[in-house]
Amino acid sequence: MTQVFNFSAGPAVLPKEVLQQAASEMLDWQGSGMSVMEMSHRGPEFISIYRQAEADLRELLAVPANYRILFMQGGGLGQNAIIPMNLLGRVREPAVIDFVHTGSWSGKSVKEAARYAQVNVAASSQAGGFTSVPAQASWQLTEGAAYLHVCTNETIDGVEYNFVPQPPAGVPLVADMSSHILSRQIDVSQYGVIFAGAQKNIGPAGLTLVIVREDLLEHALPICPSAFNWKNVAEHESMFNTPPTYAIYIAGLVFAHLKAQGGVAAMEARNIEKARLLYEALDRDDFYANRVDESCRSRMNIPFYLRDESLNEAFLAGAKARGLLQLKGHKSVGGMRASIYNAMPIEGVQALVDYLNEFAGR
Ligand SMILES: *Cc1c(COP(=O)(O)O)cnc(C)c1O
Repeated sequence: MTQVFNFSAGPAVLPKEVLQQAASEMLDWQGSGMSVMEMSHRGPEFISIYRQAEADLRELLAVPANYRILFMQGGGLGQNAIIPMNLLGRVREPAVIDFVHTGSWSGKSVKEAARYAQVNVAASSQAGGFTSVPAQASWQLTEGAAYLHVCTNETIDGVEYNFVPQPPAGVPLVADMSSHILSRQIDVSQYGVIFAGAQKNIGPAGLTLVIVREDLLEHALPICPSAFNWKNVAEHESMFNTPPTYAIYIAGLVFAHLKAQGGVAAMEARNIEKARLLYEALDRDDFYANRVDESCRSRMNIPFYLRDESLNEAFLAGAKARGLLQLKGHKSVGGMRASIYNAMPIEGVQALVDYLNEFAGR
């Protein structure tokens, strides 16, 4: 097999060791005679896989005891509707939800939430082309809001928070961490809800993680579907209905792999180094440009443009010939994008840097 480095934004690269283990266990999981895909989600084998995955994730993120971890379906976009349906019962009508609009994903969240409540965009970086996170001092937050929603890493725009937002007292902070969960250390206790689609930095598509403080399980609207009611899901250990069993199994292998690599602190140190290498190559002269404010450049998703965009196709073809895959930028913004999640080895970033230099004729 040819060596490639996959820079896809998602579904994205997984650790080779995890895929190898999954391959070796594909037909017969640990002497059970069954593939994980063939097991009852209520049988002892799968329950042990589930509990280990949950415990390992709790350890990796130091999730406090008063938080529940839910393994759900419906993706990040599903949560955009599931969150209001679970939290709007906290406040009297007319409910207001605060948002900070920092790019494509928080924009989608605003649009979906507007179907359920009044939304207040407390701050937006749209006028600047989504190249920064507005300073918190400028946010027009609502006292008594149902919650404050932020996207702490904008996957398309390449903008990452370097601070933890502070909502007014009693207003829970909800964070979409789909594309940088487990890439850096976080203090879970500062958040009411953290959610993440798995297909960026965790595992296969089809699994959505939700980490929710226990007191926030009590406020679902009557219209909330039972399968998406967090309290119901928590009470059934994510097995109110059939969970995405194989995706949970792979996520569990990723969690065990991260622990063996030294956990989130070790990943963060590697991610800082990987991002430094890549930004340094992009910044060296004006052949390439990343337009994001230096204070909030993402460590995970690095969009960039060629000064001469007529070279885009040649750039991508040359990259592909060297095994550097899926570097084309999102269609909404054009250009290029390198996603360098946990599973991207530093050798992959170095190979991309070498190619950037070669293509620029340096
Ligand atoms: C990918 C992504 C989503 C959407 O996830 P789906 O699983 O496709 O619904 C939401 N938010 C962020 C930040 C993402 O990167």
